[in-house]
Amino acid sequence: MADDETPDRTPVPDQQPETTVVTSGRSEGETSLAPVLYPTSTFAFESVEEGRRMATAVGAERFYSRYGNPTVNAFESAIAELEGADAARSFASGMGAISAVVLGLCSSGDHVVAQRQLYAGTQLFLQTVCPRLGIDVTFVDGTESGAFEAAIQPGRTMLVFAESPANPRLDLVDLDALGAIDRATTVVDSTFATPLGQNPIAHGVDLVVHSATKGIAGHNDATIGVVAGSEDLVAWLWGFAVLHGANASPADALNAHRGLRTLGVRLAHQTATAQRLAEHLEAHAGVETVCYPGLDSHPQRDLAVRQLRTPGGLLTFDLAGDAETGRRFVESVRLAHRATSLGGPETLVTHPASTTHVGLTPEEMEATGIGPGTIRVSCGLEHADDVVADLDQALAAAVREPSTRDRAASGG
Ligand SMILES: *Cc1c(COP(=O)(O)O)cnc(C)c1O
Repeated sequence: MADDETPDRTPVPDQQPETTVVTSGRSEGETSLAPVLYPTSTFAFESVEEGRRMATAVGAERFYSRYGNPTVNAFESAIAELEGADAARSFASGMGAISAVVLGLCSSGDHVVAQRQLYAGTQLFLQTVCPRLGIDVTFVDGTESGAFEAAIQPGRTMLVFAESPANPRLDLVDLDALGAIDRATTVVDSTFATPLGQNPIAHGVDLVVHSATKGIAGHNDATIGVVAGSEDLVAWLWGFAVLHGANASPADALNAHRGLRTLGVRLAHQTATAQRLAEHLEAHAGVETVCYPGLDSHPQRDLAVRQLRTPGGLLTFDLAGDAETGRRFVESVRLAHRATSLGGPETLVTHPASTTHVGLTPEEMEATGIGPGTIRVSCGLEHADDVVADLDQALAAAVREPSTRDRAASGG
């Protein structure tokens, strides 16, 4: 390299996304390899004219941090690159992103088609906040072919909202079919997949949303959401977001961007553990069903192979038995933690029937796919042998003959 030449950092041909998580979101001339924290809420400008320019520019990076911030923008540009989107905007949480998409694109009198299988917060938002604002929502089965399209009301439906893989049973939505819808803006919550598992925009979907709190940040140390899409859509959402005020904090964007660098190795490890665990559980007499896109028994296995690069670190299964069996299982884990969330270093188990969905009637629970023995596991970064051994001993404890103490407690 001659002295006057700048080094060539053109990506290698067909660079894999596991490499792009390492290379993305670096600004020209920045020599710090780690993301740089700009904690400032505001930036000085030289003249009235420069202030006017920044106050009216979309996505101004150095004006006021609710509008934009170099730490936050670096994370956003990394996500945009990974998702194959023109642009991205991050928010204070996944729900901040989801609520901004719905409120930014829909007005009173408009209609939304949403999938029945959804993150509980999204479902509640669509069921309670939307009707209060005069936004009608129709829920459909996202696994049923043509269901989204059939529920569209021409001229009224602004948004079609999907989640894939979806809570709680890892149901998949056919992204090609969703992307073919052109009478409304289509959105996919792709949190479970991460940008390494699938890229909905490549299938024609308009917007992709992530709770980056989960696998992207990956260390349970950031609460942050992100939306990616076309220049026009993201600029429109940015205009709403500046007034909505649910912008991501620079500290959370820093942790999310730092976490993103290792997403490839973390996801590969978590997926390998989940695959082993899913196969182990499927062969266990105390387990009725295992929902995992990496199993041949997944009801949408062909679709999983077609659109997921990796089945991911999350699985859901049904214990044979009642709610008591579910409770005993969750209370018997020793290595895994009883906690909500996913995609972090620690293996987490949840029992939806007694926690997140405890308020539902038995009929509502069945419609949501939650049984008394349904357990969701987010595989962590521990050695797979230890995760399998821990869940195995919890399973043995859960399906054993009830102890004298348990019998006394249940009055039997
Ligand atoms: C956690 C989660 C959300 C909400 O994200 P927050 O960062 O907790 O607001 C939305 N969708 C899915 C699929 C999630 O797992």
